[in-house]
Amino acid sequence: MILLKANSELNNIFSRMLKTMDVNVVWTGNIVVLNNFLILSGKVRSLIFNFDNRKIMTNVIELPDKEEDMEPVGENQTLTNVLNMTLYAFGKWGSIRGLKVDKDYSQLNALFYAILKDMKIIPGYRDDNFRFYKDNIQMTFEEVVKAAMEEGKRKPQEVKEEKQEEEPEEKGLGLWHKVRWSLTKATFHKSEISAYERKASRVGNNFYINGYQCPECARKLYMAIYPQGKEFPIETEEGGVYLARSYTCDNCNLFYTPRPGKLLREGDNYTMKFGGDRDAYEDYRELLGRDAERTSNCNFNEFASQRGKHAMPPIEEACADMEHMSEEELHNIEEKIDENFFPLMQAEPFREKIQELLKARKEAQEEKKKKKKPEQEAESSKAEGAAETAEKNSEEKSQGQAMQHSETPMDHSGLESSEQPQSPNKDWDRPQEDGRKSFGHTEAGAQASGDDTDALGKPEKKKGFFGKRYTKEKPERDVPEKDMDASLKGAGKQDDPRDPNGIEAELEAEFAESNGSLSVKEKYDARMRKLDRMSMWQLRRLREQVKDDERLDWVDKEKYEKLLRQAAYQKGAEEVRKKAEYAMTQSYAVIKRVMDEIDQSECPELIKKEMLEALGEVKKKRGQEEAADLIARVPENMTRSQYRTFRDKLNQYDGEDISVYNEVLEGTRRLTEKREIAGMLKRAAGADRRGLMQMLTKLREDGFLPEQAEPAIREIEGRVMAMDQKVIDKMCPNIPLMSFDEAASAYEKIEGGVFLPEIKTNTLEMIDKRLTKLKMDECGLLVEKLKDALSGRISDTERLHFYEVRKIMRGDWAPREAELAARALNTYAQERDRYEFPILICDASAKKNGRDGFILTPEHIFYNSMFSSEMIPIRSVTGIEGNTGLLSKGIYVKRGNGKKTKIPGGISSKELKEFGEVLGEFVSYLQEKPESRSIAYLSKEKHDVKCCYRCGYTYRGGNTCPKCGNQANQ
Ligand SMILES: [Zn+2]
Ligand SMILES: [Zn+2]
Repeated sequence: MILLKANSELNNIFSRMLKTMDVNVVWTGNIVVLNNFLILSGKVRSLIFNFDNRKIMTNVIELPDKEEDMEPVGENQTLTNVLNMTLYAFGKWGSIRGLKVDKDYSQLNALFYAILKDMKIIPGYRDDNFRFYKDNIQMTFEEVVKAAMEEGKRKPQEVKEEKQEEEPEEKGLGLWHKVRWSLTKATFHKSEISAYERKASRVGNNFYINGYQCPECARKLYMAIYPQGKEFPIETEEGGVYLARSYTCDNCNLFYTPRPGKLLREGDNYTMKFGGDRDAYEDYRELLGRDAERTSNCNFNEFASQRGKHAMPPIEEACADMEHMSEEELHNIEEKIDENFFPLMQAEPFREKIQELLKARKEAQEEKKKKKKPEQEAESSKAEGAAETAEKNSEEKSQGQAMQHSETPMDHSGLESSEQPQSPNKDWDRPQEDGRKSFGHTEAGAQASGDDTDALGKPEKKKGFFGKRYTKEKPERDVPEKDMDASLKGAGKQDDPRDPNGIEAELEAEFAESNGSLSVKEKYDARMRKLDRMSMWQLRRLREQVKDDERLDWVDKEKYEKLLRQAAYQKGAEEVRKKAEYAMTQSYAVIKRVMDEIDQSECPELIKKEMLEALGEVKKKRGQEEAADLIARVPENMTRSQYRTFRDKLNQYDGEDISVYNEVLEGTRRLTEKREIAGMLKRAAGADRRGLMQMLTKLREDGFLPEQAEPAIREIEGRVMAMDQKVIDKMCPNIPLMSFDEAASAYEKIEGGVFLPEIKTNTLEMIDKRLTKLKMDECGLLVEKLKDALSGRISDTERLHFYEVRKIMRGDWAPREAELAARALNTYAQERDRYEFPILICDASAKKNGRDGFILTPEHIFYNSMFSSEMIPIRSVTGIEGNTGLLSKGIYVKRGNGKKTKIPGGISSKELKEFGEVLGEFVSYLQEKPESRSIAYLSKEKHDVKCCYRCGYTYRGGNTCPKCGNQANQ
């Protein structure tokens, strides 16, 4: 019997289950596992799951309940999963009321298998029972739980092993590989293949064991031969090559093939390495082996440009003059026979002959050795010389081919396409660049045309505008300062707005009569006599002139001022009276406006006050009358726009006491709104999403009373939410199991789709988690790759900090490392993208605190030093080198624009060069990243033209990449 204390996750799940089942069990949170029973121990009754007969029942049973006997489930995820299986199993059987499991039996078995795999337990879940097996022996659920408890204790200690186990379990995207074979030199030794080896060593995919040994690990290679006409096209540093045969080392995850015209033994070959990426290696091997056969092919590998031009002679011809051949030539033919250049049946007799010949010569040599030393030396040097010339010839030949090839671009359509892994990158860049260019162009264009307007159109307009203003303002401004007479003269006509009552005209006439004998004072006096007829405006102007006229002394000024003020008052009082009299009979609005005007006017205060009081009385009365009248017109079934009109109108009287009318209006509004909302909710039952959203908008924005609209909004939102959830559930039924592209595409869809914000954020969060995980995984693999490249070449790694995703996710990153990384990232890499994780942080700060140095991510190099800080896009880097010169010591990043930037990094000078080299190689690898890795590409659900996740090759149709064999393209 096992006694367990549920953790919060289990507590949650089982409590919810008990609630939906609605059984009379008060669960204590303790779980008892016995044989094939799982018991949720209750206060009185307990709930019993029986794995033998899929039954659940409640019963009163005596169970141990001492807390100290209970083993807490705690953090043990394996155990939690095992206990959770109960729900899936019994839920699928339909034994748990209210719980429905959509997965079918095989899916559930797969799920259970994944849970139990580490314990080497096999689930047998059927529609009538649930059994467990280990080594083909049935075990009880209790034993399974026991194993899970041990597994949970063991797991944290086996972090390393777990890591390796985890990887194949969850097939991520892996890293990308540029599938271009590189030219290498290596020595291949040959050894006999035993009969046993021939039988037992198999890698499949039409690769068969071969005598050559892998130069790296000395294990035997496997060879595939392509029948004539079906040679396999590959891309190499030297261009397209058709393979007649390819070799692979199953141990090193790599492929070899000789250079065109050569045999593998001769040393010049191409290599395609997949490093630790076994998946990629196997996919490629499957692809390479697909067309291979157990056959012979008399051709060497060929450059695409030379295809078909060098047919091998038949074996009889090749061996026509064997007796006179050099040892080297004989070896060559023997090798060709071994490598199935000739049909085996025909070649076998020749092989025997060659071996005889070689043996004979060897014996002859031995003989000579014994006889004479000098002679032997001469002989052997002669043989060497022959070999050398033979080699030279073949080298020249193949070099010639290579040269020729490099001059002619690949002309074979089959291979032409294999150059494309680069082109997606180009394509990727190009539209961007074009976009930028054309954008720049339009911008420049706009600017140019803007300049035009500035140079031609606008100034003219401006001139015109100012011109107008000048003509208007000039006389006004100049008048008081210069000659008043002159200005007044100009305004002499009767219909002039400046002289509405003809006073100026009269004065002018008077002044003219006097023939200029009138003094300034006399002229003013003449004006003063006509004050009573002047308008308010004229009075004000005259007052200003008097004030400003320097020809008058202060006594006169005082006198005129007094006269003018009196006249103004009189005029003001007169105007106020007239206005008030007019307003008395007008509407509320007019009275209000007139009162404001009077309040502002120049007039004796007494009169002003009197008039305002009188008007105030009238205004109040008029307000009540008008409001009552308005409300009387409010219809019983008021529309919303009608309400708004009434509301606006009633608001006019806000200075008066209109609370009664407000109440009437609002009361009517409440009633009509209620009716409207009720109607809406009735329609909502049958409405589609769009209809519901329209209702929501209306309820939110159409000025409904919040207390009336809120409940309705909640109800309609609930309907929309249910609809959205349904759609989203369909779109991503199981987020944790989604692949990167599924997640990205769903993210895109949901983000761009019409869903309620709550649901959207929630779902997006989960997808975001998934995307983050996939990109972090990629980052983790990149870290491994870079570490691998550095190991053995750099010993001083104190300043190198790798971003170890797995440690970080597990939360056991050393606090000092974490702190340093956080500081570096927050100091100078804040501009990185959402899914851009660092690979390496190279600290150069004096205090070793991460503030200075550089950070390498898959997209950028961020660096920070005392003098500068920058973000260098990886794509712009053309090279990295470590310089040890006295004055120029450091790491330099060269860029496409010719710029050379020194970045800080605390690497000791004796390893700088090496470090720069590794980093440079790694950056070139990063640059090969195919477009298919971009979030933009991954966001699309379907791709007509597929871009391989592994090699970037673009193709149509099918999910398997024809270039690298990757089978996981969507
Ligand atoms: Zn090997
Ligand atoms: Zn591919």
